[in-house]
Amino acid sequence: MRKRIVIAEDESIIRMDLKMTLQDHGYEVVGEAGDGDRAIELAFLHKPDLILMDIKMPKMNGLKASRIIGEQLDLPILIITAYSQKEFVEKAQQDNVVGYLVKPISESNLIPAVEVALHQSDKAKRLKENVQQAKQEVEKRKIVERAKGILMDAEQLTEQQAFKQMRDASMSRQMTMESLAKEIIDKYK
Ligand SMILES: [Mg+2]
Repeated sequence: MRKRIVIAEDESIIRMDLKMTLQDHGYEVVGEAGDGDRAIELAFLHKPDLILMDIKMPKMNGLKASRIIGEQLDLPILIITAYSQKEFVEKAQQDNVVGYLVKPISESNLIPAVEVALHQSDKAKRLKENVQQAKQEVEKRKIVERAKGILMDAEQLTEQQAFKQMRDASMSRQMTMESLAKEIIDKYK
C-alpha cells in the first residue's frame, strides 16, 4: 500500500516541489497545508503515515503544531527547517518527531529521510503494540491468579486442584480462562 503523506509548508513553491518529488517516488500526498492550524486539521482528517512539517509558518508554527499532533494523534513528523533553526529543533525534541531535514531540500536528501522516518515510525508502532500486548497478558494472568485464590479459599482446594477445576471448566464450557476467572470473581464477590 502506498504511504500517505501530509505536507505543511507555507512557501508554495517549496510545497509543490516536495509534493512532486514524493509523488515521483510512489508516495501519496493526501493533504497540503500552508500554516500550522491547517496542518493539525489535515492530520485529524487524514491520519497520514507521515507529516512533513515546516517550522516557520503563519498562524501556528510547526513545532507547536507538531506537539499538538503528537499529544492528540501520535503521528510521526519529519521537520523541515532552515539551518538557523537547527538548535531550536534539537531543544524541542518530541517523541513523534522522527527526524528533521535542513533546507534547501533536494530529492537526494528528501527520499532517504522519508524512508528512514517511515521505517522508524513503523518500528515504534510495533514496539508499542508489543508492550500493550504484554501488559494485557500480565493483566489476564493477574485475574486468573485472583480467581484461583478465591476458589481455593471458598472450596478449600489446593492451588493445583483449583487450577485443574478452572482449566476443566474452561474446556468443557469453551470459555477462556480469563472470562471464567471473571465469572468466579463475580460469583464470590
Ligand atoms: Mg516557512
